[in-house]
Amino acid sequence: MNMNFCRGITVFLLCAALLLSLSGCAGAEPKEYYFFAMDTVVTLRLIPKPGADQARMDEIAARCEGILIEAEREMSAKDDDTPVSRFNAGEDAALVLTPLIGEVVAVSLDVSRKTGGAFDCTLGALVELWNVSGGGPVPAQEDIREALSHTGEGCFSFSADEVKKTDPDARLDFGGVGKGAAAALLVDYLNSPEAGETLAGAVVSLGGNVALAGSKPDGSPYMVGVRDPDDPGGLIGTLALESGFVAVSGDYERYFEENGVRYHHILGGKTGVPAKSGLRSAAAVASDGALADALSTALFVLGEDGALALYESGLYDFEAVLVTDDGRVTATPGLGGVFRLTNGNYVLSETSSGS
Ligand code: ADP
Ligand code: MG
Repeated sequence: MNMNFCRGITVFLLCAALLLSLSGCAGAEPKEYYFFAMDTVVTLRLIPKPGADQARMDEIAARCEGILIEAEREMSAKDDDTPVSRFNAGEDAALVLTPLIGEVVAVSLDVSRKTGGAFDCTLGALVELWNVSGGGPVPAQEDIREALSHTGEGCFSFSADEVKKTDPDARLDFGGVGKGAAAALLVDYLNSPEAGETLAGAVVSLGGNVALAGSKPDGSPYMVGVRDPDDPGGLIGTLALESGFVAVSGDYERYFEENGVRYHHILGGKTGVPAKSGLRSAAAVASDGALADALSTALFVLGEDGALALYESGLYDFEAVLVTDDGRVTATPGLGGVFRLTNGNYVLSETSSGS
């Protein structure tokens, strides 16, 4: 398998307690499914109702895989012959706003405007130039300047039902929001009466996005692990959550190295180079999947102070866990009793709400 596809799984799920609580129920053990979609490894943990039919669980997992593959076919800027890649290449004059594309465009524009462009889906020309997933190389300064001149909302015109370009060399990229939007489609399906006949709950882990559906039969919260940026197999701490979405953006997720320097995949739309904000990772917790994903990218670019200022502005309803490059962890006030630091190599910031 291509190493780019083998990116570390960012968030780990701690379900030992769940397994114990269900061990007495024949045929009701949670079942895990793994597949590859949206350029990442997807883990799907389905928690059946007592007596649920195993074959039906397999069908639900297959349907989930289908939903993700369809979402990728709509939104990817990397795959050939998707609506976004045809629009980017200039083969299609307009990008039609389907419900899914409409949602990622709306969330992207809104977060971009409210974060001063820290999150910016119009950075496609820059993302393409850096080709971080393809291993670089580091572009020349003049190429970065040229790519930057084809970014920004002004290179496009957005209407209620389509997007057009005003700059033919501009490109859209939904890499920072698409997986969260797709995770939300899965939660809608997993919470539907059709899947709910079989399932009590489900946990989806999709390349740094965790989505929670239904609930655990014993009523306890789901435990979502936040990865240690320095240790692919380790955690920094855990979040105890009933529902919603956790999206994590980090400098360890996708990167290449050149002359001993690491170049990661989250780019500063003003500098044109991988964002250096003093954060190793930013986790956003929200009740909307696309918003959580876009916010995690924005928080990473904003850095600790900017991220906390956005939190305090009240513009969005979210919580965050920020990991700094000097080993501090800040959890926002709403995570009191929810976030627990479990890794002795890190310290909680004084203003933090975790335990
Ligand atoms: P991941 O894709 O690993 O889950 P993110 O959600 O942070 O991580 O998204 C990073 C992706 O978003 C990049 O691979 C690229 O496609 C795109 N991107 C890079 N920089 C930005 C940015 N400043 N704003 C919006 N999207 C970005
Ligand atoms: Mg994101």
